[in-house]
Amino acid sequence: MSNDRVIEPISKLRAATGSFEADPVNTDSSEPFKACPACGKVWHTRDELLSDPEVELVGYQVHFEDLSLGLMMFNHSCRGTFAVAAEKFLDMYDGPAFDEMLAGKPECPGYCLKKTELRRCPAKCECAFIREILEKITAGLSKARIGSGQQDSA
Ligand SMILES: [Zn+2]
Repeated sequence: MSNDRVIEPISKLRAATGSFEADPVNTDSSEPFKACPACGKVWHTRDELLSDPEVELVGYQVHFEDLSLGLMMFNHSCRGTFAVAAEKFLDMYDGPAFDEMLAGKPECPGYCLKKTELRRCPAKCECAFIREILEKITAGLSKARIGSGQQDSA
């Protein structure tokens, strides 16, 4: 009975992971969301980045101690690569969160250990919701690519 998995609302998880809303460095809305370190292209908002057909999500680097410190890794069409902190995407998920970390347990498929693995995770694990966000990002970007009529060119 005491071993039941507890489903917690995401807001509670955010509180548990710390500085989600309280980081003074990131509250300045005049700061662009991200700039490409290679070509200097600026995305002013997250939406702008996530609807750019020239951007591709290529990886996720987990941070098990504090999931908000994980990194989403992107490629830009200029061949630049850059990472954005997972905390900037956490509000894209509003479903249930799981309280238990299953990394390393039999239920864990080990996706989080592979940076280029972007699949959803079937485990009822604390880390799984981030992979739902990855799915959303990928879906949005591929939609943008189709929408712009741009083909992948070599
Ligand atoms: Zn670039």
